[in-house]
Amino acid sequence: MSITLDISHSSPAAEKARTDTEKPSLIGMNREDMAAALIAVGVAERQVKMRIQQLWHWIYVRGVTEFSAMTNVAKELRATLERHFTIARPEIIAEQVSRDGTRKWLMRFPPRGAGKPVEIETVYIPEEGRGTLCVSSQVGCSLNCSFCHTGTQMLVRNLTAEEIVAQVLVARDRLGDYPDATPNQDAAIPSEGRLVSNIVMMGMGEPLYNVDNVKKALLIFTDGDGLSLSKRRVTLSTSGVVPKIAEIGEETGCMLAISLHATRDDLRDVLVPINKKYPLKELLEACRAYPGLSNARRITFEYVMLKGVNDSLTDARDLVKLLKGIPAKINLIPFNPWPGSEYDCSEWDQIETFAQFVNDAGYASPIRTPRGRDILAACGQLKSETERLRKKEREALESVGLNEADLAMRAMVAGHGED
Ligand code: SAH
Ligand code: SF4
Repeated sequence: MSITLDISHSSPAAEKARTDTEKPSLIGMNREDMAAALIAVGVAERQVKMRIQQLWHWIYVRGVTEFSAMTNVAKELRATLERHFTIARPEIIAEQVSRDGTRKWLMRFPPRGAGKPVEIETVYIPEEGRGTLCVSSQVGCSLNCSFCHTGTQMLVRNLTAEEIVAQVLVARDRLGDYPDATPNQDAAIPSEGRLVSNIVMMGMGEPLYNVDNVKKALLIFTDGDGLSLSKRRVTLSTSGVVPKIAEIGEETGCMLAISLHATRDDLRDVLVPINKKYPLKELLEACRAYPGLSNARRITFEYVMLKGVNDSLTDARDLVKLLKGIPAKINLIPFNPWPGSEYDCSEWDQIETFAQFVNDAGYASPIRTPRGRDILAACGQLKSETERLRKKEREALESVGLNEADLAMRAMVAGHGED
């Protein structure tokens, strides 16, 4: 059973967020942006580098949410910063905690002077020895992958770098994932052993259609003076925006995941319509040329299991053939049905047969969920059963603290990046 906590009116950070909606946030600014912002409010140029270092440490290492907590910054400067900027978090509308530790947050970001506030979901999935945060890059999506619920929602807008980075800060806040907040800014901060150890850009949206903000955010995730995540533990998933693939690899060094889902253009044109623009041949060429690709830095190919559509043994054979020569991992994702979707999740037996073939071809553990087969079996039966059975399945999942969305999410994020 999951617990939902309504904390929207209880957190001081949320309160502050309401009063700080107009000021620009320092969260998500790179050092260049921050330098310009500080100079604009009168910080002397010779001090800027040092100030940025202090701010960076307080924001990303200590996780403070107020300038007043920055004890080694002069009082006067703190007041100036407070007047012009914010480091407040978005409002948390709801937090769901599953019995196995999975957490979902619904966050609301203020419009910062223009448009409407937007709401997005961020999910944290603890696994053996690591914890993965699934982060969104857009509100809605302009692509229309036929099996994806986000694809039915119009693109509202790109998230800003602040909004992408703040998802990680909120997760660390809520998980208590900052080191002891003793204000000794020279203390060595371990980047190992954190609860949020891996990040996947696999929430809402197509990250390579918001590439500038996503790039900024990825560089902040992996900045050694701040959040300090290893580049090998940060993965970006794309439906295949070919012209941006090399750029993201060169400039961020992060790991790549490709939403493949089909091995033939005619089928991929339907499932992932961006394929009409960038067909498989071009996509795989971009993958082969991905900067830093090696056996130690493989590309993950995501493959959603759709009953009778792409789940035959012939499909498995074609998949192995298609990826030949590319250092690759394969993630088989049980389809997560949604109201009105036109597909069913493959039967569990079929997923197993498919997985076995892929395994035999040398791709280890393509489906990894900590809860194992009995729970995945439930997913395989969803939708194809009567409403009564569906209810039973639901109860079975809930009894172990999961729902269907959790399962698909787990399969999506499982095994991304190094352990
Ligand atoms: N837009 C990006 C990242 C977000 S989607 C992309 O498409 O890669 C993250 C992954 O979830 C993608 O592989 C996507 O194809 C998959 N996915 C989307 N809807 C799903 C569903 N209903 N069931 C299972 N996987 C799904
Ligand atoms: Fe969904 Fe990703 Fe396709 Fe967008 S690109 S519709 S988020 S699968």
